[in-house]
Amino acid sequence: MPLPRADGTVPTRGEKGKARTILNRLRRRYPEIGTALDYESPYELLVVTVLSAQTTDENVNKVAPILFERYPLVRDLAEADPEEVEEIVYSTGFYRQKTRSIIKLAQAIEEMFDGEVPMEMDELVKLPGVGRKTASVLLAEAWDVPAIAVDTHVRRVTRRLGLTAQADPVKIEKDLMAVFPKNEWSGVSMRIIQFGRDICDARRPLCGRCELFGLCEFSERFLFAAKTPPRT
Ligand code: SF4
Repeated sequence: MPLPRADGTVPTRGEKGKARTILNRLRRRYPEIGTALDYESPYELLVVTVLSAQTTDENVNKVAPILFERYPLVRDLAEADPEEVEEIVYSTGFYRQKTRSIIKLAQAIEEMFDGEVPMEMDELVKLPGVGRKTASVLLAEAWDVPAIAVDTHVRRVTRRLGLTAQADPVKIEKDLMAVFPKNEWSGVSMRIIQFGRDICDARRPLCGRCELFGLCEFSERFLFAAKTPPRT
């Protein structure tokens, strides 16, 4: 039974074929894809994901071993002294806010799920600071459960490519689930996120180096094409 898009329509064979071509080209660009964050459990992945906001994965990877050696269990972090945590996560920036967030997160996992990070999207999004995007990454990375994470890159790139006309992340997620095969969902969003960072920038997309140029509906690419002399 084909999955419908957010507006209830079902993608045509041509639309699915275009999605498959996009995926194949992105797979060629990024044969291996996954988070660069180091983690050893769903709890650690959740915490490092919060810490990774506004900083590099490399920065977080330096801090994470110290943090998890000091607080190996969810309960340890739930009962942590905020000042001690602040000192450890200081170099990741916004350290006060991040400290509050990860302690609150650990407390919620303790109180709501007995210290176990849940495996269901509906339950994950009940945790403070965990939106559908973080939950999707967690499901895909930690449990290999098919999920599509829609962040600002996925939203921008998929709209430019004409894979969705929606603006709401939940509706975009539904549209993408309708055109891509389920077993590819996780890889699709990870690859599009990286592609958005590397090539399809919000303000200066590198259309001239883009393997998806011929499939793209973004109007600025036509401006680019008009400025580019034909290849001889
Ligand atoms: S052609 Fe340009 S706008 Fe379209 S996907 Fe490629 S980089 Fe993005």
